[in-house]
Amino acid sequence: MTPVCPFVKVARPDEASSKKVGDNQNKHQSGQEGKAKQESGESATISPKCPFGYDSQSFKLGPFSCMICQALLFESSKCVPCSHVYCKACISRFKDCPLCGADIEKIEADTNLQTVVDRFIEGHARIKRSQVNKDQEEAVGEKKTVIYEDVSLERGAFLVQQAMRAFRAHNVESAKSRLSLCAEDIREQLERMGSTSELCSQLGAVLGMMGDCCRALGDVGAAVSYFEESASFLKKVQTDDLEIIHTLSVSLNKVGDLKYYDGDLQGARSYYFQSLNVRRDAIKNTASSPSQILDVVVSLAKVADVDRNIGNEDVAIDGFQEAIRLLDSLTLKSEEVGLEQRRLSVLEFLKNQLAEKQPDPAP
Ligand SMILES: [Zn+2]
Ligand SMILES: [Zn+2]
Repeated sequence: MTPVCPFVKVARPDEASSKKVGDNQNKHQSGQEGKAKQESGESATISPKCPFGYDSQSFKLGPFSCMICQALLFESSKCVPCSHVYCKACISRFKDCPLCGADIEKIEADTNLQTVVDRFIEGHARIKRSQVNKDQEEAVGEKKTVIYEDVSLERGAFLVQQAMRAFRAHNVESAKSRLSLCAEDIREQLERMGSTSELCSQLGAVLGMMGDCCRALGDVGAAVSYFEESASFLKKVQTDDLEIIHTLSVSLNKVGDLKYYDGDLQGARSYYFQSLNVRRDAIKNTASSPSQILDVVVSLAKVADVDRNIGNEDVAIDGFQEAIRLLDSLTLKSEEVGLEQRRLSVLEFLKNQLAEKQPDPAP
């Protein structure tokens, strides 16, 4: 899942602790190994204060939070006989209650509690919508300044934060449900305000995360649709923002990966190639950072790998060689240790690719 919250830029302006801790450099690895990886990383650190007593730091204290996934309860379920409550997906992995250790005889849906939790989420929505509707003449550019004094966390950021916690704890249905709400919100805003860059980039990022959820649930068809839609919104954003360019190229690669594993190599190549072009354009236009060069190299390797598999051996060799030349030209500063490790592992992968094929006779 994309590690940087797409709403990080609309966090409270006075929130000094708001910062990105995600690390671009390690987001993805080279070639084959990279394909099945789990994207890891941390969301923006935001410290909300909630009138409901909900505390994002110590989730255990929140009456609406699940102790296992550390996110808001989803399909609240009560253990019998101890009555402790968790998400259904979370507690179903346990035989004993994680809080009190009692044997779980059975699990019962707690629909009353879930109704309260759902109303709690809606509460955040109402606060936002009443503010927006109060001022119909609100300028597009002012949108991001809507801050909820009493809730202290923009609804989109809140939902994404909950979704990322749930996703990390493998409660994918919960994550997907929060993201769906969030995507719905943004689509409504898009209708009202038109395709602003901010809305398109947010929706693109959220749809990408929904693609991750569907992929984790094994629903390849839906995952492909979400990643494609994610890419289509991110393409609308005219930007030099590296984070958006990176998210776009990753969404395209994810479609490519899914097509690849589905055996659709031509389809995979087409998406890897689009991703490669996005990354190439990015280093054409701006002074490129080493991590952007590495992104281009990884894309070259993905395209070349497919070329090899569909029998375009000469094109594949050219691709691998171009990637190696780019890597060789890359100079890293001594503090960029993580990048250097990545550079070496990609280089090794590429050299193996070239070495692998040489002894083979021509078909
Ligand atoms: Zn849970
Ligand atoms: Zn218990």
